[in-house]
Amino acid sequence: AQAPQDPLIDGLNPPQREAVLTTEGPVLMLAGAGTGKTAALTARLAHLIRARLAWPSEILCVTFTNKAAREMRERVGHLIGPAVEGMPWLGTFHSIAAKMLRRHAELVGLQSNYTIIDTDDQLRLLKQLIQSEGVDEKRFPARQLAGCLDRWKNRGLNPDQIDAGESEAYANGKGQHFYRLYQDRLKALNACDFGDLLLHMVNILRDHREVLDQYRQRFKYVMVDEYQDTNQVQYLWLRLIAQGRQNICVVGDDDQSIYSWRGAEVANILRFEKDFAGAKVIRLEQNYRSTPQILAAASGLINENSQRLGKTLWTERHPGDPVRVIGVWDGPEEARRVGEEIERLEREGLSLAQVAILVRAQYQTREFEDRFIQIGLNYRIVGGFRFYERAEIRDALAYLRVIAQPADDLAFERIYNAPKRGLGAKALEKLHVLARRRGIPLAAAALEIADSDELPARARNTFVALMRDFGRWRDMAGSDNPADLLRTVMDESGYTDALQAEKTAEAAGRLENLAELARAMEEYDTLGDFLEHVSLVMDNEAADENEKVTIMTMHGAKGLEFDHVFLPGWEEGVFPSQRSLDEGGLASLEEERRLAYVAITRARRRCTILHAANRRIYGQWSSSIPSRFIGELPAEHVSQETTMSGGASLWRAQWSEHSDPFAHVAQTQPSRTATRGPGWQRAAQQQFETTPRRVAESTRSAASFAAKPRTDLTIG
Ligand code: ATP
Ligand code: MG
Repeated sequence: AQAPQDPLIDGLNPPQREAVLTTEGPVLMLAGAGTGKTAALTARLAHLIRARLAWPSEILCVTFTNKAAREMRERVGHLIGPAVEGMPWLGTFHSIAAKMLRRHAELVGLQSNYTIIDTDDQLRLLKQLIQSEGVDEKRFPARQLAGCLDRWKNRGLNPDQIDAGESEAYANGKGQHFYRLYQDRLKALNACDFGDLLLHMVNILRDHREVLDQYRQRFKYVMVDEYQDTNQVQYLWLRLIAQGRQNICVVGDDDQSIYSWRGAEVANILRFEKDFAGAKVIRLEQNYRSTPQILAAASGLINENSQRLGKTLWTERHPGDPVRVIGVWDGPEEARRVGEEIERLEREGLSLAQVAILVRAQYQTREFEDRFIQIGLNYRIVGGFRFYERAEIRDALAYLRVIAQPADDLAFERIYNAPKRGLGAKALEKLHVLARRRGIPLAAAALEIADSDELPARARNTFVALMRDFGRWRDMAGSDNPADLLRTVMDESGYTDALQAEKTAEAAGRLENLAELARAMEEYDTLGDFLEHVSLVMDNEAADENEKVTIMTMHGAKGLEFDHVFLPGWEEGVFPSQRSLDEGGLASLEEERRLAYVAITRARRRCTILHAANRRIYGQWSSSIPSRFIGELPAEHVSQETTMSGGASLWRAQWSEHSDPFAHVAQTQPSRTATRGPGWQRAAQQQFETTPRRVAESTRSAASFAAKPRTDLTIG
């Protein structure tokens, strides 16, 4: 139907073309990584507009990130030129739902100028509610409640749809009550949270036929990228809108479903054919992104999963290098090694924009950031703060700054009530008045306020107790190692306990970050040295946006591609994460494996996996076991290297169950655990595997280390 020499169509392979040209009726494009799903969806959008099948404003197209939406908009402009009237509804679920809700806000009791509150506001609001209801926030933290609300909203549940069992998830059955209170409070504030955007819209479309009909009329075509990661409420919303005309095209890959922890349900893919009868299923099998070796490694790995639809992938790309697996001695060497590799690539003329380091957990970025700053390599952290800019790290640094420099009022203001000590803005104000009058810093005023009657006795006592703590910590700073000092401060100030009480994944991540900060501090002899290092690091904002190595999480990298990808920390307990090993059983292990598949398939030309034989955890060396995922890579497409001078015997010793080949390391490193408080140790146990588990895992992954031949992969 198309003219020859059409740039929009010519570049596509037959199944892609079919996906583009099958405009009417439901279409499911189900295909592996790098097969051109997003490319086909983009071409389809361009085709619909160019062929005048719809005005742009009559097309709804959902992407997973705002960045992906921008890229798609640009590419469509490229394909058909800018001369189109109107804009498609192109964006994330949230951004599109927010735009819709503005038009119908009154139907859910809001005004169209409602505000969308962020998570900080949300927590503050929840805390108020919890207090006003007389519930102990220490026992039932606001974050826990926020987590429940999020889960319920992701599943499309309104307050009256929460059953008693669900309600148990917060404060002994008060979950539903708080959900109601919170929604009422939001309404009074003319506000909603992120989860509400879709939930409100689903309610509106369900309850107001005329609104539903209006959107069914308007949207002649609906398209969704990364469909495997839609959650229940998103699915309900889509189905409501698309079931009118049935012109819906979704693309996804069950093997890349990595957001079940955020409520995504891969079952949505499987049920698509049921909900949309007669759906045309299109499979893409040619991968255009990666070398045969990278593709084979990723395919071999994902083949270990039992819960999958299964698919064939092939490529015509020229063979490249095998996937490299590099064993290094420890974390610092890992960062050094990656730095060297990247510098070599740079000398070969490669753009740093084509290099990415993908980590499992945010805390892993720190070692790379420190190293790259040292060698002057430009990097950017995508989707998340740079390590030293995170809230908990800034809090910890503020404590250290007040210890090192009592006149640091800014630092003092940051932590005088973090964790919560019952000191409010009023108390700070009084302190300021006193400090100004006497010409002394806030910290000094906090001591003097003991003798005034400016504040209630309780607040005064709290200040004095805090200053007494600071006095003790300052004494410690003179003699102790900075890392020990930090651990003590975090424990004794109650900061660690407060995070532990939250019992959320986010709080666990914050504890990991603090542990990582302590690890970083072990390399410094004095607190002063360390703080100087930090101020240099925080000042490092390189100019040229494009010439930077990207550091980001594997989750954040979905849909992206880079010539060179480095995957550090492939060790049991890091990746797969300890949490997935502890809690989830097979399902969560398989989700980790899908994450590994996503990570490897981001690479176009070269993929380098690293694992360290030792990680220093809480001041103690601990030997680590290479990730089971390494053992699952097909050997014929992998090259293994180790940089350890100890050689094979040392390596082998690591696999043995009872010996600790790194015992001598622990001996040469003076143990610095003596002053660790009990809270900190609890944190350590929660975050990192204990020794017995390590051993148990080691036998298992050693057994599976021998590679198995693969049959599901054809390489063209
Ligand atoms: P993912 O599952 O990771 O999201 P995907 O299936 O969406 O991957 P794309 O990102 O669309 O894959 O495409 C991967 C790469 O292949 C891109 O660089 C794209 O430009 C290229 N590509 C896609 N289709 C073709 C084609 N028909 N011919 C040549 N290159 C193509
Ligand atoms: Mg894609």
